[in-house]
Amino acid sequence: MVQSAILGFPRIGPNRELKKITESYWKGKATVEELFNVGKEIRNANWKLQKEAGVDIIPSNDFSFYDQVLDLSLLFNVIPERYSKYNLAPIDTLFAMGRGLQRKATETEKAVDVTALEMVKWFDSNYHYVRPTFSHSTEFKLNGQKPVDEFLEAKELGIQTRPVLLGPVSYLFLGKADKDSLDLEPLSLLEKLLPVYVEILSKLKAAGATEVQLDEPILVLDLPQQAQEAIKKAYEFFGSKAASLPQITLATYFGTVVPNLDSLKNLPVAALHFDFVRAPAQFDEVVSIVGDNQKLSVGVVDGRNIWKNDFAKSSDLVNKAIEKLGADRVIVSTSSSLLHTPVDLENETKLNPEIKDWFSFATQKIKEVVVIAKNVSGEDVSAELKANAKSISARASSKITNDEAVQKRVASINEKMAKRAAPFEARLAEQTKRFNLPLFPTTTIGSFPQTKDIRINRNKFVKGTITAEEYEKFINSEIEMVIRFQEEIGLDVLVHGEPERNDMVQYFGEQINGYTFTTNGWVQSYGSRYVRPPIIVGDLSRPKPMSVKESVYAQSITTKPVKGMLTGPVTCLRWSFPRDDVDQKTQALQLALALRDEVNDLESAGIRIIQVDEPAIREGLPLRAGEERSAYLKWAAEAFRVATSGVANDTQIHSHFCYSDLDPNHIKALDADVVSIEFSKKDDPNYIAEFKNYPNHIGLGLFDIHSPRVPSKEEFISKIQTILKSYPAEKFWVNPDCGLKTRDWEETKLSLTNMVEAAKYFREQY
Ligand code: GLN
Ligand code: ZN
Repeated sequence: MVQSAILGFPRIGPNRELKKITESYWKGKATVEELFNVGKEIRNANWKLQKEAGVDIIPSNDFSFYDQVLDLSLLFNVIPERYSKYNLAPIDTLFAMGRGLQRKATETEKAVDVTALEMVKWFDSNYHYVRPTFSHSTEFKLNGQKPVDEFLEAKELGIQTRPVLLGPVSYLFLGKADKDSLDLEPLSLLEKLLPVYVEILSKLKAAGATEVQLDEPILVLDLPQQAQEAIKKAYEFFGSKAASLPQITLATYFGTVVPNLDSLKNLPVAALHFDFVRAPAQFDEVVSIVGDNQKLSVGVVDGRNIWKNDFAKSSDLVNKAIEKLGADRVIVSTSSSLLHTPVDLENETKLNPEIKDWFSFATQKIKEVVVIAKNVSGEDVSAELKANAKSISARASSKITNDEAVQKRVASINEKMAKRAAPFEARLAEQTKRFNLPLFPTTTIGSFPQTKDIRINRNKFVKGTITAEEYEKFINSEIEMVIRFQEEIGLDVLVHGEPERNDMVQYFGEQINGYTFTTNGWVQSYGSRYVRPPIIVGDLSRPKPMSVKESVYAQSITTKPVKGMLTGPVTCLRWSFPRDDVDQKTQALQLALALRDEVNDLESAGIRIIQVDEPAIREGLPLRAGEERSAYLKWAAEAFRVATSGVANDTQIHSHFCYSDLDPNHIKALDADVVSIEFSKKDDPNYIAEFKNYPNHIGLGLFDIHSPRVPSKEEFISKIQTILKSYPAEKFWVNPDCGLKTRDWEETKLSLTNMVEAAKYFREQY
């Protein structure tokens, strides 16, 4: 009998129970007992769900109140002194490290003021983990026993689980040295860390755990030799203690391990897990290294997307493994943890039933794993197979999926469409004539504060308690207020403020054919922040203008140029669940054509500066250097250029990037006339220098829009001065890091006023 396994289940609860209780706890409105109780309820419900579905290998310790990597830092006592010195309760230390803590002194407790640890994207997903931060004084030791407690909690319900932990090499590799220990190489701590892993694993064994899952996802990256050796060292060490440890499944996901295959050969572990959804081509090579006494866990049910599994295809792959290894050495599994998928499709009551039939969320996916395991074991699941085949073929031939006109239009994209009529220098000359902007032109990134009033009115409109006309009147009054404010403080290139947008992707998605939306499809992004990605279900097209009305209104009430504001094709793609039946390039090009029409319509309506945001372009970069990465860079840039190259030379195209360190070489190919990038927290002079050679114009973001802090005029001046030491003044735009939608008006007014004053100061100098 082939076993079924799940690598991890979402922990947010079917109705975001975790978010609600955590945020009330933070506000002091719920007790720690109430918080722990909700955690327990979610864990218990998840285990029971999997048990009842017939899953053989059910994970535990996949739950977390904030982040599973941060949990390990707490467990191993990797707590920088700036947190430990407050002697908070462990859960509060965890939250302080995850999100920072500012607390006034009380009679019994002293004041706390500490910022959060760095948060980083989890591989190429939209999940963020809290980066382990090591120093010379880090002393690994067990601090609590969360994995054991949760194992026992499940055991009490009569459910035997396989605890999951991030493996030691990935844990160190994904961490960094703290400010006080910059010469420290995290991997050099391996020898000190391994005994502590052995300690917790032995405790698990003593508690009754027969197996554990250790995740080493870094095996899908380009690894330095040292990290490959560390894998060998770590697992050989565990092998030498095998008698006192549970059996180990070493899990990798999100890509191919082939370039690191040597480090996986002959490891003394009981099973190896691979992701055959993302990297099916690695099959032959990885199967060839599975040792005689090892099992192979075959990841075939996608942990990163929402599409129904193709049972016939998955069963074929599993059968291929069975042929090589025998049924008792093969396990059917999810490709990765299901953390990255929404919890339950049953909660979606508003989806078009035709489309709903194509989807599978975490709750459905665990059943899929079981059905595939049963099928390859020879059990009768013919009813399930038949229904599955029907859904798959219905989707493939559906009118919603296929739009021939769009397919033809993508096929007809030619080089000319992806290239501005003239090179940058010539465009610049024409644009200078048209706009006649001063040196150090000032602008913002697009959004202004999304006030409560805006949200209330939007909700009223969605619910139908105010009419479309009333809503439009309200939006126009917001736009007018934003325009007047910008005029008043003397900004040069104005924006309309984006009051009509709920979200920068959803807003456009809702107006593009081929998209669909869930009402409850939440996925954890970080801590208590969840996102609800739109889903691309079919060929994409724009039936009518999406943003022209608001921009034109804004331009009609001012003589200053108003910048039109769009979300770029790659960002629309990356922040959605993409199709799995068409490649990402094709989807990006379809979006590019929709946006091209929008850009051209804006231009015809008199909007001659147009910004197309691509904040997600960096995160889409494939994890490994090589062919796939260069291909991505090429098509991502092409999609942007297709969207923006249909305009006249004297129409100025802007773009904006944030959320990650950017390599200027990656954005050159977009050929935008002006780019703005997040910069305020990058005080590294090398980073400034890298942008010096960026050929077109740039606004290096001058203040952090994530913080309510107001920088003074002098602070702006000194910042600009520093940048100007290694950056040419004539290319320099003055702007914040990103949109201001999460800020309050008060600080927005002050910060922007100071920023504009600083620009004026430099104009006088030059
Ligand atoms: N134009 C968008 C805004 O200002 C850009 C947001 C982003 O880059 N994340 O809100
Ligand atoms: Zn941004």
